[in-house]
Amino acid sequence: MGGDHGSGFQAIQEYFQQKVCRFCSRQFQQEGIELLRQEPGVLVVRVTCRACGHPLGVAIVGTAPSRTEQKPSRQTEWTKRDRRRLADKPKITYDDVLSAHLFFQGLGSDWAKHIPAR
Ligand SMILES: [Zn+2]
Repeated sequence: MGGDHGSGFQAIQEYFQQKVCRFCSRQFQQEGIELLRQEPGVLVVRVTCRACGHPLGVAIVGTAPSRTEQKPSRQTEWTKRDRRRLADKPKITYDDVLSAHLFFQGLGSDWAKHIPAR
């Protein structure tokens, strides 16, 4: 799809399309990944399963180069076991395309508190 939102959002869509819904075990669709907000260096996306309608949550992804030079390991599988293991961690490291931190929680309407102040 077009580059309207920049390569960061596209990369996020591709990232989530590799994941499966924990309710119906289907992969997330591109249409279920919405860009809620774009700030310099930060993208906020909402992921909803289009197959069963369950919202997965809101992800806040930093697209600016991070201070640390971490090389996060790539997640290629997204099993229920992985999800349970990752659920213990507040942050999931995103891949090195974005050098980002991905917050992935069941954020409510207060998700904006994670956005740096303008
Ligand atoms: Zn589902």
